[in-house]
Amino acid sequence: MILAKAVELGISKVGFARATAVSPEAYERYARWIERHCHGEMSYLEKYEDVRRDPRLLLDGAQTVIVCAFNYYPSQFQRADVPQIASYALGRDYHEVVKERLMQLAEYIRENFGGETRVCVDTAPIRERYWAVEAGVGFMGTNNQLILPGRGSYYFLGEVLTTAVFEADEPCRDSCMGCGRCVKMCPAGAISPEGYVDASKCLSYLTIEYRGDLPENLDLGNRVYGCDECQRVCPHNRSARPTTISEFAPSDELLSLDAQAIAEMTPQQFSAIFRHSAIKRTRLAGLQRNLRACQAGLKGDE
Ligand code: SF4
Ligand code: SF4
Repeated sequence: MILAKAVELGISKVGFARATAVSPEAYERYARWIERHCHGEMSYLEKYEDVRRDPRLLLDGAQTVIVCAFNYYPSQFQRADVPQIASYALGRDYHEVVKERLMQLAEYIRENFGGETRVCVDTAPIRERYWAVEAGVGFMGTNNQLILPGRGSYYFLGEVLTTAVFEADEPCRDSCMGCGRCVKMCPAGAISPEGYVDASKCLSYLTIEYRGDLPENLDLGNRVYGCDECQRVCPHNRSARPTTISEFAPSDELLSLDAQAIAEMTPQQFSAIFRHSAIKRTRLAGLQRNLRACQAGLKGDE
């Protein structure tokens, strides 16, 4: 019954895990990643340690973590000669789209199974990829992406915590084939063969989250927002199929955005174009900073 509702909401895969504390191994791995300052300046990742350890602190009496995966693989891509935007940001902001759909799922659960719910979409301190593995939705790749067996990694994750009890799925024990392509092809050398991603070097972090001046001689290539390289080269994504969620279809406005349009963009135009886009996160100043870094790097290559 709940699976039919999930399909109706465009959810590609749903899994159930019993809400407990995360395993000590998973917690240690995260703590080591923070100790090594791999999180760059994302200091919020240091906070709410207790909640990251135990999702029951997000919802009193939580019994089940329901993990939902939404396909965002684009049906269309940008031309190669325009500043590149990561695939996930070509459509409408997933925070809005996934949240709207999970709120409907949560309402359905309350009406049909009772209890309380809480929806999480990348804003609450929950270890979502850990729970996705526990709920049988996918496995972790060396590139730190959650990979759905046979479907790839171009998926957004969202969770519904509920006090209702659902039978738990078996955790996904598949593993990434460890071909090493993501390690070799990462333009920033941010991925270790052991599967640690140093976010402070990652172009996705630097172009989206980082607010200061970009490091000198940073080679962004033509990437003005985010980076898809470690997903693009992953063999598991050969099976990726375009999303059927219409809100994730790339907007014509974004597909046609060129360097001149970004360089000359006013704050008003930025707000109008990106009001419902994840790109608003980087702000106009950040987008134009990234463009200048791309142009400086490309000039240096001539
Ligand atoms: S997003 Fe790009 S820079 Fe970041 S780890 Fe993946 S390949 Fe490397
Ligand atoms: S590119 Fe290879 S090593 Fe990297 S996540 Fe994919 S399968 Fe694993």
